[in-house]
Amino acid sequence: MSRSFYVDDLSKQFGGFKRDYSESDFVLFGVPFDSTSSFRPGSRFGPAAIREASANIETWSWRTGMDFEEVRIHDLGDLAVVHGDASETIRRVKETVEDIVMSRKIPVMLGGEHTITLGALRGMRDATVVSFDAHFDMRDEYLTNKLSHACVMRRALEELGVGNVVIVGARASYRDEVEFVKKTGVNYVSSQQIMRAGTKEIGAWLRGVLANSKKIYISVDTDVLDPAFAPGVGNPEPEGITASVLLDIIEEIADERISGFDVVEVAPTYDNGATAVTASKIVYELCCMVAKSIGL
Ligand code: MN
Ligand code: MN
Repeated sequence: MSRSFYVDDLSKQFGGFKRDYSESDFVLFGVPFDSTSSFRPGSRFGPAAIREASANIETWSWRTGMDFEEVRIHDLGDLAVVHGDASETIRRVKETVEDIVMSRKIPVMLGGEHTITLGALRGMRDATVVSFDAHFDMRDEYLTNKLSHACVMRRALEELGVGNVVIVGARASYRDEVEFVKKTGVNYVSSQQIMRAGTKEIGAWLRGVLANSKKIYISVDTDVLDPAFAPGVGNPEPEGITASVLLDIIEEIADERISGFDVVEVAPTYDNGATAVTASKIVYELCCMVAKSIGL
């Protein structure tokens, strides 16, 4: 099944490969929602930009020795979102993820702003979320809104418990948030710690943190990467990690418990092309890592 036969659909189909829903292992969908973006909106255009980039990069994964062409993935298209209504959008994401999980397939979500991850976690039920993010997203409310992308991991923590939320790559926060994170005992590692310790050591720490988790959900807020490599995000923050470091860490924890993942916060308006390409590469590599660890 060569993607070159589907030129007309390349921008609409992630990776350019068509698989029927019934014969797929992964089900991808986009959520073009960015209503609570606090600084630079535009992540509603993320799914389209990531799909377009995905059709224009090579498919061999050097990390896994697989080709993305072997990954059985179905693209549902984009969720119909209600702009301005985070609550309804989260509900629709939850239902979509529930359906995918019920049919024993792995959900892959393209954002959109980070708020949508709450819907995915509700649909997954009882997963531990590993959030790769420059931010904790642990504010109780932001601009009087409790369903803002700056609050998404606070809501996740309330619903899943403190042991089921892990933040990797943090480096942007304010005093109250840092005090909250320390007081409640949230597991986190900063980007500076990652760069000093190296990915092997961070991987070992993460495996310990995740030792008792039955299901793992990976959320990649693209701003975890340095703005030098991923400028097209809503809230760029210096001292970020590289895509290689991100993927090295995920490779350290990739096992059969990874039950879903997302890549969010790509805002193409501010991109030079690198961010969308990197985001689609991350999806390619995560699919291959998960497929390999499950033995698909
Ligand atoms: Mn975030
Ligand atoms: Mn962030």
